Amino acid sequence: MSAPPEGLKRDFPLARLTTVRTGGAADWFARPDNEEHLIAALRWADEEGLPVGVIGSGSNLLVADDGFHGLALKLDGDLAGIEREGDRVICGGGYRFPSAAAKSANWGLSGLEFGVNIPGTAGGAVRMNANAYGGQLARVLEWVEVCTAAGSERRTPDQLGFTYRHSNLREGEVVARASFGLEPADPGEIKATLASMRDRRREAQPSGIKTFGSTFKNPEDERAEGRSAGQLLEAAGCRGLRHGGARFSEKHANFVENYRGATTADVLELMAEGRRRVHERFGVELEPEVQILGKVSWPDGWEL
Ligand SMILES: Cc1cc2nc3c(=O)[nH]c(=O)nc-3n(C[C@H](O)[C@H](O)[C@H](O)COP(=O)(O)OP(=O)(O)OC[C@H]3O[C@@H](n4cnc5c(N)ncnc54)[C@H](O)[C@@H]3O)c2cc1C
Repeated sequence: MSAPPEGLKRDFPLARLTTVRTGGAADWFARPDNEEHLIAALRWADEEGLPVGVIGSGSNLLVADDGFHGLALKLDGDLAGIEREGDRVICGGGYRFPSAAAKSANWGLSGLEFGVNIPGTAGGAVRMNANAYGGQLARVLEWVEVCTAAGSERRTPDQLGFTYRHSNLREGEVVARASFGLEPADPGEIKATLASMRDRRREAQPSGIKTFGSTFKNPEDERAEGRSAGQLLEAAGCRGLRHGGARFSEKHANFVENYRGATTADVLELMAEGRRRVHERFGVELEPEVQILGKVSWPDGWEL
């Protein structure tokens, strides 16, 4: 093995870097604080044949109990900052998306309001094509800088293959920066919009719990008859359903909550049961929205 770049840590616990707080450690972990360090870390992992995982805010991420046998990266420093250039806001991939919405409001720039309730990073939002209240990321995204072991390149939204909660970014491709083209507007009005979006969210979703948000994607299957994953799970009796330390939230059936020392295996069991019940009742096969880091074994009954 060649000498790892400076600052790499071994056996780094990942649970606390996720909002659901489950899962094991990464064999290798780094917090690159600029593009040069990021590319050096990616190059080293490539040379060593190690898989690479990026952790944003860990707000849609489930880490395997057995951990991640590769290099996990969390962007820091220059890669987690924000700057303004006229009507443009450039976020480091690790900059928190709700903070980008708030900061843009202070600057009197409109367009990122939908990000106020998406508790991830700019990079995670691009990777997941995050969305809320009809605000579309691709409408304001101008370009992203993507780093790989080979260097960095700019990509425009039409090169990112955006579909529902999906982009074509592959393993080892890290969003180092993202540029958003915004519109000047009255800061007071933008802040009022943010406040009302926060209020709406508080009414609809549980707060202060350990969760990764939506567990399953909303199905396109016509047997769902337009119902969301949460509505199907609720109708299938999953609201409040428990397995080990995990349960489907009482307030929002598509949210899994770690309410008492859950493991990732508990969460997967619960997901499999929810999926089985929805399939049995409606014939719909729910697909996970949550991303998995590491190797997990899906419980018996996952395959329908
Ligand atoms: C309470 C709650 C509410 C939520 N509401 C919404 C909502 O309204 N709309 C919505 O779309 N989502 C929502 N989510 C889900 C989540 O916040 C989004 O998917 C978010 O975009 C994930 O960003 P993250 O930085 O946390 O990514 P993580 O969860 O850390 O990672 C998710 C995926 O993105 C990859 N990734 C992260 N950063 C980068 C990067 N810099 N470059 C390349 N890949 C990267 C990871 O490797 C992983 O595959 C919610 C989650 C919670 C907990």
